[in-house]
Amino acid sequence: MPATLIDGKAFAATVRGKVAQHVTRLKDDHGITPGLAVVLVGEDPASQVYVRSKGKMTLEVGMNSFEHRLDADTAEADLLALIDQLNRDPAVHGILVQLPLPKHLNEDLVINSIDPAKDVDGFHISNVGLLGTGQKSMVPCTPLGCLMMLRDHHGTISGMDAVVIGRSNIVGKPMAQLLLNDSATVTIAHSRTKDLPEVVRRADIVVAAVGRPEMVPGDWIKEGATVIDVGINRIDAPEKGEGKTRLVGDCHFESCAERAGAITPVPGGVGPMTIACLLANTVTACCRANGLAEPEGLTA
Ligand code: NAD
Repeated sequence: MPATLIDGKAFAATVRGKVAQHVTRLKDDHGITPGLAVVLVGEDPASQVYVRSKGKMTLEVGMNSFEHRLDADTAEADLLALIDQLNRDPAVHGILVQLPLPKHLNEDLVINSIDPAKDVDGFHISNVGLLGTGQKSMVPCTPLGCLMMLRDHHGTISGMDAVVIGRSNIVGKPMAQLLLNDSATVTIAHSRTKDLPEVVRRADIVVAAVGRPEMVPGDWIKEGATVIDVGINRIDAPEKGEGKTRLVGDCHFESCAERAGAITPVPGGVGPMTIACLLANTVTACCRANGLAEPEGLTA
C-alpha cells in the first residue's frame, strides 16, 4: 500500500493560521503586538532568501518584523552590542541570528548572548539544558515542526522505536531529545554508526537529517514506518533541461514511499514547518514575557 503523504505545506499553513489568531487576540485583548528581530551578517545568498521570507511571513501573521542587516566584516563587539539592545527592547519578543555567521565571529558566543527567553531558535545553552531536562524551553524550529507532524499523524508516539540519522546541534540532537521527552525509544545514528541499514530497519519512526541526497533507500525502511525527511539537497536535473536542478531529501522518496506507512515529501514536507514554528515560538515567547497563557499545540 502506498504511504500516506504528510503534507508539511498544508500543516504549516494551519500553524500560521493559529499563530495569526493568537496574534489578533494579543492585540485586541492586551494591546500587545509580538515582534521578531532577525539579524543577518554578510551577504550569503541562501541566508538572504531565508531572512526575506521570514520577514514576509512574520508580517503576514500580524507580528512586527525588525530586520538588521550588517556588513560581512562587522566586528564581534558591534554584533554583541546590537543583541544587547534587542535583549532590552520590550517590543522585541524573539531574536534570531541567521547562521552561518562569517568565520571571524564566534557563533557560540553570539548565540549565548541572546536572552534565552527571546531565543526563538532554541540554540542558547540554557534552552538546550532545559529541553534536555524536560523543562519548559524554547525549542529549535525544525525539530519542533517534525514533532508536530508526528504527533498529528500518530496521536502519541509513546513506546515507538525512533531512529534519528544525524547528530547536529540544530536538528539531530534536539529531535532525539523531543522524541525521548514524548517517551519514544530513541537511537541517534551518525556517520560512524555500524550497520546503519539494520539500525534504520528497526525503526517505527525514521527522521533523516544528514544532508546527503537520497542516501536512505526504501529497503532500509520497516514496512509501515513513518519517514520524516529533513534533508534539503539540490541535485542536477538534466531531465528538466540543461543546467537545471531540483531539490531532493535524504531519503529516496519513491522507494521509501513504497514501504513506509507515511512520509514527508521534499520539497513541501519539513521545510515549510520550520518558519511556521519560528512564528509559533515568537508568539510563545511573547505570551511568556507578558505572563499570559501560551497558545495550545504550538510548542512541545
Ligand atoms: P550537519 O551537516 O550539521 O549534520 C549532518 C549529520 O549527519 C552529522 O551529525 C553526521 O554525523 C551525519 N552524517 C553524515 N554522513 C552520514 C552518513 N553517511 N551516515 C549517517 N550519518 C551521517 O547537518 P544539519 O544542519 O543537521 O542538516 C541536515 C540536513 O537537513 C541538511 O540537508 C540541511 O539542509 C537540512 N535542514 C533542513 C531544514 C529544514 O528546514 N527542512 C533545517 C535544517 C537543516
